[in-house]
Amino acid sequence: MAVRDILIIGHPMLAKKAEKVEKIDDGLIQLARDMVETMHKAPGIGLAAPQVNDGRRLITIDLSVGEKEADLIVLANPEIVARDGEAVSEEGCLSVPDIREKVARPYRVTLKGVNLDGREVVIEGEDLLARVICHEVDHLDGKLFTDRLSPLKKNLLRKKLKKATETGFKL
Ligand code: ZN
Repeated sequence: MAVRDILIIGHPMLAKKAEKVEKIDDGLIQLARDMVETMHKAPGIGLAAPQVNDGRRLITIDLSVGEKEADLIVLANPEIVARDGEAVSEEGCLSVPDIREKVARPYRVTLKGVNLDGREVVIEGEDLLARVICHEVDHLDGKLFTDRLSPLKKNLLRKKLKKATETGFKL
């Protein structure tokens, strides 16, 4: 297992649509293990493969950050099949350091995907779990939470982030 580097906003991989996982092979299992380790080490409660520079549709989520094994979710080809309600709360991202902003998300979602045994699983998420699910699935579509902010907020963030990152980027 290895901790991988987390890409920061401005890297083109974070803006790309990730590709469907066709086969659960050793390489994918290794990626999943590394992602879990990287997420726990950060520490964070969710990670998507593009954040560690891998363009496959794989996400890891763990609200307990390694405390409860039952909380760990590792899913390939995750798809939100139902959404309900709305909740506005602060959100952050390991790829957008030091920035937290309020984002509206569904209060409840149903997530479908394939686990590492190749079985299809369905997960119901509420509140924070629903938020993390939406956030990570967004990553697979090349979207960061900052893309969901108002133009005014984006402008303010652009200035903040320009100082925080060495290279320019598009928000
Ligand atoms: Zn993120």
